[in-house]
Order: sequence, then structure tokens, then C-alpha cells
Amino acid sequence: MPGKSIVILGGGFGGAAAARTLRRLLPAEHAVTLVDRLRHTYLCGSLPWLIVGEREPDKISRSLGALRQRGVRYLEAEVQGLDLVNRRVMTSGGGLSYDSLVIATGAEYDWDAVPGAVNAHSFYNLETARKLRAALRSFHKGCIVIAVSRLPYKCPPAPYEAAMLLDAMFTERGVRKEVDIHIFTPEPACLGLAGAQRSAQFKAYLGKRSITVHNSETLAGIDADSRVARFQSGESMAYDLMITVPVHRSAAVVRATSLTNQAGWIPVDAATLASRQPGVYAIGDATVVPMANGSPLPKAGVFASAEGDLVARNLAAEILGGQAACFAGEGYCFVDHGKGKGALIRGAFLSPGQPQVELTSPSVRWRRRKERFEADWRSWKI
Ligand SMILES: Cc1cc2nc3c(=O)[nH]c(=O)nc-3n(C[C@H](O)[C@H](O)[C@H](O)COP(=O)(O)OP(=O)(O)OC[C@H]3O[C@@H](n4cnc5c(N)ncnc54)[C@H](O)[C@@H]3O)c2cc1C
Repeated sequence: MPGKSIVILGGGFGGAAAARTLRRLLPAEHAVTLVDRLRHTYLCGSLPWLIVGEREPDKISRSLGALRQRGVRYLEAEVQGLDLVNRRVMTSGGGLSYDSLVIATGAEYDWDAVPGAVNAHSFYNLETARKLRAALRSFHKGCIVIAVSRLPYKCPPAPYEAAMLLDAMFTERGVRKEVDIHIFTPEPACLGLAGAQRSAQFKAYLGKRSITVHNSETLAGIDADSRVARFQSGESMAYDLMITVPVHRSAAVVRATSLTNQAGWIPVDAATLASRQPGVYAIGDATVVPMANGSPLPKAGVFASAEGDLVARNLAAEILGGQAACFAGEGYCFVDHGKGKGALIRGAFLSPGQPQVELTSPSVRWRRRKERFEADWRSWKI
């Protein structure tokens, strides 16, 4: 049997998981190639810790070069185009032919989609998180507005987690009474997937920590001169420090293909992650996976990683002979609450009818599990 060529685009959560599982399962005559423009990827889940000074950038990254030691052909290059008919990928490091393609290019940010947002702070990538951290060092008084620009966005709990960490940091500095924290989000309910009761309890809990959440509010524009954020409802809010969760979209190279839906994401089969193009799979943030209630599966690293593992297992089964498995849609996320505690969200997101999602009360245990998750990611256990 001639060796097969499997090419993986993107070495984040999903792509790295796919590459490692494929390499573990397939004999050496089958080539596993992973392309990413970055040599070092970083753990987005640790960015909220970075902004409050609990992490340093070099402590939340890992090198994709490590994949070479595991037999993966890692190519540090820009993916420039896809020829789906002739099964070719064009990169800044040359062309690649494939038998199977796994697209794991994640989501990128459109900083210009909301007028004025380009000048606001954010923490959704390393660069913006570093700048925000510097700004927070000298912030002791005033109003902080955190605005989710649009749905969908990565890691639905992240804006709430950031707000709770800010609350903890300002409390420790002894200036909490001088700082107002507001969150604006288009979501009608906070962490609505956890169910109406849990969602209301979570909002009330945030309220007790003097974090005010404004639901069903979509950011319309930011006026940096007058320091006012405007919302589509007609609401506006004066701020001293403006933080946005930027508008998300799929990578330009993906949007240029016929694989995407009108919103620019890649629709895939929820069970197999197959795209509409034979031989092409898509995983993680680049995709839209429908849940039974019609909403898309949240964009999260744990799903990207599980999807990458599943696609890899099924490709290995196809090549070597074996049974294909289905994606279960089970996932979890640790949400740090600051002050040494965290909570767990976990559930079966592809359950028939409604996702079955549990949100625990905050405890020391889940904060420790979040730390362990970070350590496991850095040492390539995840
Ligand atoms: C603040 C924050 C907190 C988060 N917290 C959590 C959490 O606690 N738990 C959790 O599960 N998830 C969390 N997430 C979400 C998680 O980071 C993403 O869902 C996950 O990274 C998606 O994995 P992915 O493989 O689809 O894409 P990514 O991890 O984004 O990887 C995509 C890769 O593709 C590469 N790429 C893209 N285009 C090209 C191109 N044209 N050429 C070459 N390379 C390219 C990129 O360089 C990147 O390395 C958080 C996200 C943020 C922003």
C-alpha cells in the first residue's frame, strides 16, 4: 500500500491534537505534515491571568518544533491558498499535495468591524493582552467597560472570568470601591447554555461582586475622544478603560474557498467533522457544528482538541482498516473566579433536544484543576 499524505493546516489546539494522534497511530510510510505560520503557540486560556500579572508570556507558550521529535513534518509557513480539486495546498514554503486535508486554522479577528474598536483594549491575543496589562498597572480609579462585539466568540466564559480577575486584583490593591466594572454582551443570558436558573444565579453572583452585566447589547461603535461606547439598542456608556472581545471570522485563506457558509465558517458533519468536500475535514474554531437546539457548538480549545483526535483516529482507521467513531460533543472549561477559586462548566453539548450543561459553584479545587490544565498543555499532555 503506497504511503498516504495527510496535511494539517494550523497547529493550535485542534491541529496539534490531530497531528499527534495520527503520528501515534500511523506507520512511518504515511506522511503527517502540519503547517503553521507560528513557531510558538500560546495558551489563550491563560491570557486573563496574564492581564492581571499572574502569568508571563514565556510561561504560557510551547514550540511547534517539538512535533518534529514525534515524527510530524512541521512546516513553519503561511498557508496562502487551497486547490481542493487537485488536492494541493500553496504555502510560503512551497506546495503540498494531500490525500486528506484537516483544516484547523481557527478564528481571526476583524478589528475594523466596529468603528473605533481598533483603538480599544482587548485580551483576545497575546499582543493586546500585554498592552492591557501595562494599562491596568496604572489604572486605580474609573469605569471599565468590557464589551463582547458579536457572537460567536471564543470561550463564552472568558469576559466574565476577566471581569472577576479584575475585581480580585483591584480588591487586593485596595481600590475596588474606586473602580466600576460593566460587561455588555449580545447574549440574552450569561452562559445561557448552563440553563436559565444557573445563568440567573451566575449573573446574581457577578452582581454581588459589583460586576454589572448588560445582556442583549451589541456594540455599535466606540468614540475614543469622548470615551463613550455606543450600542445598537441606543444605549451608551462612558468609560475610562474600554476592553472589547473583537469580532471573529475564519482565516482569509478559508474564506477564499467554497467550503464556508454565508457567515464565513465551515459547516461540518457533527459526527465526523467532514466538510462538504470529499477528503477535507475541518475542526475547531474555523467550523460551525450545529447543536440539536440550532445554536452552534461553542468555540473552545477542548472541542478543537477532541475533534482533532477524532478525525485523526478515523483517518487512521480508514487507512489501516478499522471502525470509524463519532464525535461525542462532550467538553469542559475551568472558569477562574479570582481570590483562589474557580468553577467548572462541563456537559454533553450534542445531546438530543438541548445541550446538557452543568456549572459548579466556585471552589479551590477547580482553580487548581485549571492550573493543572495549563501545565498539561505546556508539557504536551493536551
Ligand atoms: C481569552 C481566551 C480564553 C480562552 N479560554 C479557553 C479555555 O479556558 N478553555 C478552552 O477550551 N478554550 C479557551 N479558549 C478558546 C481556545 O483558545 C480556542 O477555541 C482554540 O484555540 C481553538 O483551537 P483551533 O485549533 O481551532 O484554533 P487555534 O488554536 O486558534 O489555532 C489556529 C492556528 O492556525 C494558524 N493559522 C491560521 N491561519 C493560518 C495561515 N493562513 N497560515 C498558517 N497558519 C495559520 C494560527 O497561527 C494558529 O496557530 C480561550 C480563548 C481566548 C481568546
